[in-house]
Amino acid sequence: MKPVKLLVVHCSATPANRDIGVAEIRTMHKAKGWRDVGYHYVIRRDGTVEKGRADNVMGAHVTGHNDGSLGICLVGGVKPDLKAEINFTPAQFAALRELLTRLQTKFPGSRICGHRDLSPDRNGDGVVSPGEWVKECPTFNVDLWWSQGKVQR
Ligand SMILES: [Zn+2]
Repeated sequence: MKPVKLLVVHCSATPANRDIGVAEIRTMHKAKGWRDVGYHYVIRRDGTVEKGRADNVMGAHVTGHNDGSLGICLVGGVKPDLKAEINFTPAQFAALRELLTRLQTKFPGSRICGHRDLSPDRNGDGVVSPGEWVKECPTFNVDLWWSQGKVQR
């Protein structure tokens, strides 16, 4: 894989009461015919960080951007009816910040973004706007959270 330049935040799109981790997500991804879990890291509801693919192995987490990126998945992100919801725990946000800080040290200059921010900019105005999101993953504005600590859609 190319040198890591992008750290992509995802959600598992499972309801808050499903306490799953890398083992369950690996099973889901293998059921799709993939050889391993698509992400490099999974952050459980209690903030535990679990390792998926090795950092030097290309993941399967974002169309067109897998080469040179790492995928980090927060468990949660939907309501029981599977509609998007920001329902991550404080322990998850703390673990995510710690992990991203560590990864930016390991891969200097790497950019942090959410999955939805890599959607195609269909109207070419240079901004990926909400109408252009392929999906809402990871449900919140990662830039705003990373820079200001604010969690919002
Ligand atoms: Zn995603």
